[in-house]
Amino acid sequence: MSNPRLMTVLGPIAPAEMGIVDAHTHVWIEPVANADPDAPVLFDETAVLTELCQFKAAGGSGLVDCQPGGCGRNGRMLSQLAEQSGVHIVACTGFHRRIYYPPDAPLWQIDAEAAADLFVTELRDGLMETAVAEQPVRAGFIKIAGEATMAATPQHLLEAAAMASLATGAAIEMHTEKGAAVEEFLQFFVDQGVDPQRLVFCHVDKRPDFAFHQTIAQAGAMLEYDTFFRPKYQPEQNVWPLLMQMIETGLAAQIALATDMADSGMWQQFGGQPGMSAFMTHIQARLVQMGVDDTIIKQLMGGNIANRLAIPQHRKE
Ligand SMILES: [Zn+2]
Repeated sequence: MSNPRLMTVLGPIAPAEMGIVDAHTHVWIEPVANADPDAPVLFDETAVLTELCQFKAAGGSGLVDCQPGGCGRNGRMLSQLAEQSGVHIVACTGFHRRIYYPPDAPLWQIDAEAAADLFVTELRDGLMETAVAEQPVRAGFIKIAGEATMAATPQHLLEAAAMASLATGAAIEMHTEKGAAVEEFLQFFVDQGVDPQRLVFCHVDKRPDFAFHQTIAQAGAMLEYDTFFRPKYQPEQNVWPLLMQMIETGLAAQIALATDMADSGMWQQFGGQPGMSAFMTHIQARLVQMGVDDTIIKQLMGGNIANRLAIPQHRKE
């Protein structure tokens, strides 16, 4: 059969080996000159490593890093941190929101084909910043960023993501502005020939409308939820009841849980709360306490995202 493998920064592994995985977070973000001065940064090696070790000690074993190249990613650091902490890290190619890049960033000057070539090269050969390294670090998926409308989202980069996914089998994780325009983005990818089973829509729990979630899940796309530690989005009134309703409706296989800790104020080692290990100590613990079936907890907290990001190996490279 296809024998799917998930590409981590230290090489391919079977999705079943991933264990508990935070489906969307950030472990390393370097400052970007001439980009948004308020953009989050995470580049204290000791602090990051310590927090990753705490995550591991609390039972976490994998992280999906959602910072693409050109806006603070450093693949060498990701592989070093994975090696030192023992946490599986999956890196990405793709594009983030325009505000996180300098005004002259190349991604916005090239056409769809050239951008697709870049994404494919990072998936197959290695991230740009590691291309000359002895051990190039490969991207495991394509992270892209939608704006609040389809019209405001760079069309050539959406096309590039679709082309790269079709060429490599890699999955696409898409940032959404609080779940906006997901229906249109889904339709766009379907029109491009991308199977919804290759798609993950992020931050959609900021739009806690059950009918919307049911429709997207039934279409085959995955929904990523990450407002558990964001009081602003009232998790008790929104994500928790939504999650339970999705589980009760039999749609747990289409959901991936995450923390999206780009903001250092959420890291214990940077003096914040709740810290990376809260994924287990709070979210997992609460699911157990609520009596959710153990198999479903494992799906929500790692199994689903690992299977989605895994790439069938029968494809010719
Ligand atoms: Zn993020």
